[in-house]
Amino acid sequence: MSIGATWAGTHTFGAAELIDARSIPEVQDAVAGADGPVRALGTRHSFNDLADSAGRLVTVTGIPAEPEVDESTRTVTVGAGTRYGELAVWLEARGWALHNMGSLPHISVAGAVATGTHGSGLANGCLSDAVAGLSYVNAAGELAYARRGDEGFAGLVVGLGAYGIVVRVTLDIQPTYRVRQDVYRGLSWEAALGDLRGIMGAGYSVSLFTMWDEPTIQQAWRKTRIGVGEDPQDGWQGARFETAAESGLVDVPPANLTVKGGVPGPWLERLPHFRLDQTPSNGDEIQTEYFVAIDDGADALRAVRELGPEIAPHLLVSELRTIAADELWLSGAYGRDTLAIHFTWRNSPAAVAALTPRIERALAPFGARPHWGKVNTMTAERIAAVTPRLADARAQFESLDPAGRFANDHLRRLGIRL
Ligand SMILES: Cc1cc2nc3c(=O)[nH]c(=O)nc-3n(C[C@H](O)[C@H](O)[C@H](O)COP(=O)(O)OP(=O)(O)OC[C@H]3O[C@@H](n4cnc5c(N)ncnc54)[C@H](O)[C@@H]3O)c2cc1C
Repeated sequence: MSIGATWAGTHTFGAAELIDARSIPEVQDAVAGADGPVRALGTRHSFNDLADSAGRLVTVTGIPAEPEVDESTRTVTVGAGTRYGELAVWLEARGWALHNMGSLPHISVAGAVATGTHGSGLANGCLSDAVAGLSYVNAAGELAYARRGDEGFAGLVVGLGAYGIVVRVTLDIQPTYRVRQDVYRGLSWEAALGDLRGIMGAGYSVSLFTMWDEPTIQQAWRKTRIGVGEDPQDGWQGARFETAAESGLVDVPPANLTVKGGVPGPWLERLPHFRLDQTPSNGDEIQTEYFVAIDDGADALRAVRELGPEIAPHLLVSELRTIAADELWLSGAYGRDTLAIHFTWRNSPAAVAALTPRIERALAPFGARPHWGKVNTMTAERIAAVTPRLADARAQFESLDPAGRFANDHLRRLGIRL
């Protein structure tokens, strides 16, 4: 029976079977009892064949979340297949919060963490940066545990499913907080490129949305923590302040998006762009995304803008966000404060296939790294050149899984597994 496709339909899985585990021992049996390769599948929100397996897929999304807070370490330990949105509701009800969210709350914790999924904010690391510990089923089907500070831990967090199946994740938490979300229209490119750090730092989490060919940036979303320097002003950087609480984005209806217009709300209802109870994004789409150092950000954006008139007809929208530097070996923000340059394309595979290498060439002088969960055409050589700890990560994966049970074509193509 076919296992189906990724959420956006961009890859049809070729794995022979999918095991929907209901407990950790079932995951152990699924790994120990597999004849050949085996890999973890999350909520299928990646756009490529990263999660696929030539043998068996195992999902832990059906294992009960059973969150446990440890107040002394300010962490929560939760079933790895839990959706961020569900964990967020549980935490909020108990007065706790995460530092950030991706644009949609529907993704699983393990799947998001495994690919270095991020939100925005100059001081906010990617979601993986909040991981304090991981329980995983290793190649022998045994339960293993690794925690922050252990040797090699920084190579396991953004792990791409390459060494085991993560079953429980421990995440840093903090007391709950409230956020307001303000939309500005008409921010000039001159202002954005003239002081990119200043613009992207004008809030807890700032996103810019553009079609690249418009004279001014279409929308700037400033998400500000209540009580921490929120300062909504009409005329900020010459942009117009939009007061409506419901504001659309390209063809995403306002009702699918979190509340704006400066209305204060809990972190989990303002930091994601999409509401948990609605369909996220467009669905009929392809995503690509690249990471450059924020200090190269303005020049990188100028380079992409040169292609703007060719990009725009095939684009739904692009989003520019920031990620604080981290030390996770395969994180897109490893070692550098980062500007994330994201493209949500119309579902036109031929146009995306033609434009993607050109964008990659334009961004190459800035050492651009790809988002692991999205479409890219970068070669293994190029990826190795921009991922300083790739060889260390690969060596650790090979030593934990010498028989290559968790390897797949995608990881071999990228040079992440042998
Ligand atoms: C509409 C939309 C919006 C998005 N927004 C953002 C965003 O704001 N920021 C961003 O950075 N990305 C974003 N993404 C990308 C998305 O966050 C990543 O692709 C993420 O990996 C999806 O998680 P998943 O659970 O669907 O993982 P899957 O796509 O199912 O799997 C991804 C990888 O994780 C591994 N994995 C999954 N579960 C486990 C496990 N239990 N143990 C070990 N490995 C595991 C898989 O083997 C695979 O390698 C978005 C995607 C979509 C479709």
